[in-house]
Amino acid sequence: MLLSQSFRKTNHIFDKKYPLNIPFVSLKKQHNDIEKQLISALQDVLENSSFILGNEVDSFEKKYATYSGTKYCIGIGNGTDALKISLRALDLNKDDEVILPVNSFIATAMAVTAVGAKPVFSDIDENTLNLSVTEAKKHLSKDTKVIVPVHLYGTPCSMDNLLEMANNQNIHVVEDNAQAQGATWNEKKTGSFGLVNATSFYPTKNLGALGDAGAITTDSFDIYKKACLLRNMGSSIKYLHESDGYNSRLDSLQAAFLSIKIDYLDRWNEERQKIASRYKSNLLNCKHIRLPQQKNSVYHILALLAEDRNELAAFLLKKNIQTLVHYPIPIHLQPAFKYLGYAKGDFPIAEQQAQELISLPLYIGMSNEEIDYVCENVIKFYN
Ligand SMILES: *Cc1c(COP(=O)(O)O)cnc(C)c1O
Repeated sequence: MLLSQSFRKTNHIFDKKYPLNIPFVSLKKQHNDIEKQLISALQDVLENSSFILGNEVDSFEKKYATYSGTKYCIGIGNGTDALKISLRALDLNKDDEVILPVNSFIATAMAVTAVGAKPVFSDIDENTLNLSVTEAKKHLSKDTKVIVPVHLYGTPCSMDNLLEMANNQNIHVVEDNAQAQGATWNEKKTGSFGLVNATSFYPTKNLGALGDAGAITTDSFDIYKKACLLRNMGSSIKYLHESDGYNSRLDSLQAAFLSIKIDYLDRWNEERQKIASRYKSNLLNCKHIRLPQQKNSVYHILALLAEDRNELAAFLLKKNIQTLVHYPIPIHLQPAFKYLGYAKGDFPIAEQQAQELISLPLYIGMSNEEIDYVCENVIKFYN
């Protein structure tokens, strides 16, 4: 970061128009600011030398449960396993169906198949880009056991009607909160609505470890006990295995890093919101861009809908601006799920939006100058 800052300064002295170099994401700034704390946490873990499920894990679990407003948190090896273990803890059977949005990271669906249940996809809301409850209702069957709202891009799903539907149908809610740590719906944190909820601390998430990590949050003591066993090969007493399980424990080192970083999460989320609102006001009058409705979003990703998306992305890349698409192929059209028998045309909203979605750079430490440079070039492309 220091290097690139001085690089930029030098260039501006010579040529104000010299293009900046804007990656899609950079984690350097957030870590530079807390580097001393991270290194001292590493030294503490070395000193304690309890590397798996050590005290650091206990104390992070307490901290994250308190932060989330849930009774329990169980540290897990990664977000995908946190989803798998959440579903396993509900004792799903082979024909049980799990409804999930067709636009999400593939892990949401792979967690369902990994536990032997059947993923049933639903189209999304064209304005919020999240799971549409109206659409989800069309896919209810006698085998529906679970619905998985994904707070995609950091935007909380509209939970009122979703919870009401789940209640009426007697199905469980399992939130995929991998992209929305710190977001709230009606003043209540995402990841605290479902019977059991999963999150990921993959490094680029709003709360990210320095490697793979994840967690489950729940108010249920029964689920808490089951998840503790499942993450540790069915064992709570060494070499006594009460149930089947996995090896998916949270490292003490990652827990120690997360305990430091969680104190910055609200600040970082506010910064993400400021960056997003600058982007949105810069692009408000560009009629070739559509801005989604993202009430109370913590902007894990800044996703917009753009005309001529591929050409725009190529144009921006030439200007040293890196963009991505979340996600280019809706899950039902992924080769991995061909066997489920879905076809093109099954989910028209998600399929259409997959052609238009573009995610612009957004990361902690991004300057106004950088945001404006991206926006200027978006506008320049359409002119
Ligand atoms: C990142 C992510 C996951 C999976 O997390 P990992 O820690 O990478 O396994 C699951 N669901 C969503 C929506 C994600 O963004």
